Amino acid sequence: MPPYAFFQNEFVPLSEAKISIMTHALHYGTACFEGIRANWNADENELYIFRCREHYDRLLKNCKLLNVSLPYSVDQLCQLTTELVQKSGYHEDVYIRPLAYKSSEALGVRIHDLEDGFLMLVTTFGPYLDVSKGIKCCISSWRRIDDNVIPPRSKITGLYVNNAFAKTEAMENGFDEAIMLTSNGYVSEGSGENIFLVIDGELVTPGCYDSVLVGITRDTVMELAKKELGTETIERHVSRSELYIADECFMTGTAAHITPVVEIDRRKVGQGNIGRLTKELQKLYFDVECGKNKKYLHWYTPVYAGTGKS
Ligand code: PMP
Repeated sequence: MPPYAFFQNEFVPLSEAKISIMTHALHYGTACFEGIRANWNADENELYIFRCREHYDRLLKNCKLLNVSLPYSVDQLCQLTTELVQKSGYHEDVYIRPLAYKSSEALGVRIHDLEDGFLMLVTTFGPYLDVSKGIKCCISSWRRIDDNVIPPRSKITGLYVNNAFAKTEAMENGFDEAIMLTSNGYVSEGSGENIFLVIDGELVTPGCYDSVLVGITRDTVMELAKKELGTETIERHVSRSELYIADECFMTGTAAHITPVVEIDRRKVGQGNIGRLTKELQKLYFDVECGKNKKYLHWYTPVYAGTGKS
């Protein structure tokens, strides 16, 4: 079965989904996207899309920011996504990329008087960061952009150049990931992940006001920490120096899952290995993500249920 895409309101083989070089979004970054995972559960022969509704809820909010109107509701987007993954026939973990974009073949910087388009593709996706050993981070020399530059709560494609600058600088300097600071010097987030610290037994993460993308994995971790471990997450400003004295640190994201951070700016985090709370949350998260914990059924969309095709 070829991988399919959803493009111009129909399912087509991925190789046939092409856009014009005149497309507005290509020139000006006028698109917004999501990254959604569907995780294979071998025991049940089922692929579970994780928190599909929440991703589309965020996409539609971002569309509002970017003046994009889509002819689909959250329910319809979830249904189209399920169909796309089903059609492509995957029996392994996959990553789904919806993109809402200014599709007019027109030049000129603006977001009004343009047509809107929507596409989706699905692909296999290997490990993004090392979740088993942990990663080494540095503080980026690139500051996180402010809400009044391009809202960082959005996944507007143009703003991701800020993240790409930070990621490439970090990797070229021998680190795995960057930690960006806000223009006020507070800790914000990684290039594609939110950040959590354990400081004196407290679970801490930068608040939404510190230019973070309000992550769905961040929300999942906060809920699991509270419901399963009785640990409240404290949202507050985090100073750079707290990164150096934290007992534990981890990053969260759809691609990154829960990735332990074992070194920051060449200083060990805690003892330089994966912390106790990080390990506990990782275990909980991996079970929940692939549909093993039925307490969280409302977060799962089964792809093959009822089709007889699993
Ligand atoms: N921050 C940024 C900048 C991101 O791109 C992502 C990935 N979407 C995240 C945080 C994590 O968000 P989520 O958990 O919703 O994937």
